[in-house]
Amino acid sequence: TERTLILVKPDGVRRGLAGEILRRVEAKGYTLVAVELRTADDALLGAHYAEHEGKPFLAPLVDFMKSGPVLAVVAEGQRVIEGFRTLAGATDPTVAPPGTIRGDLGRDWGLKVIQNLVHGSDSVESAQREIGLWFPSL
Ligand code: ATP
Repeated sequence: TERTLILVKPDGVRRGLAGEILRRVEAKGYTLVAVELRTADDALLGAHYAEHEGKPFLAPLVDFMKSGPVLAVVAEGQRVIEGFRTLAGATDPTVAPPGTIRGDLGRDWGLKVIQNLVHGSDSVESAQREIGLWFPSL
């Protein structure tokens, strides 16, 4: 069985959608392994988003991710990495299909960074790396 790192980003926590998002993860049948509300710092976010170094949206992305608490979640289940990304929908919430977290709950706010409510690991390797960053005790 597989584990993934999910983040309810600051826009999701601010809008009071953390419970709704966790509800969808649980309703799909995945198991919550760890849940923690915390405000991330530059060191954690720099490591988390290392693959985006050099991209123009990295600085606004890190500023946004530091703008309030994030709900960090480890969820477990068969194929949960791919399954959560399907639940989340496309990066751009304007085109994410209805039925997905981003498609149902997200929109374009005309900001420099796409505020799309959630993050989910995109591979077994990144899940392992990201769980180690956010939950070193796991
Ligand atoms: P995540 O990794 O957060 O689940 P993702 O895999 O859909 O999202 P990535 O390409 O890894 O998207 O980008 C990380 C995050 O950076 C996105 O979720 C979004 O918040 C922001 N982002 C990505 N591309 C852009 C862009 N072109 N302009 C502004 N913000 C962006």
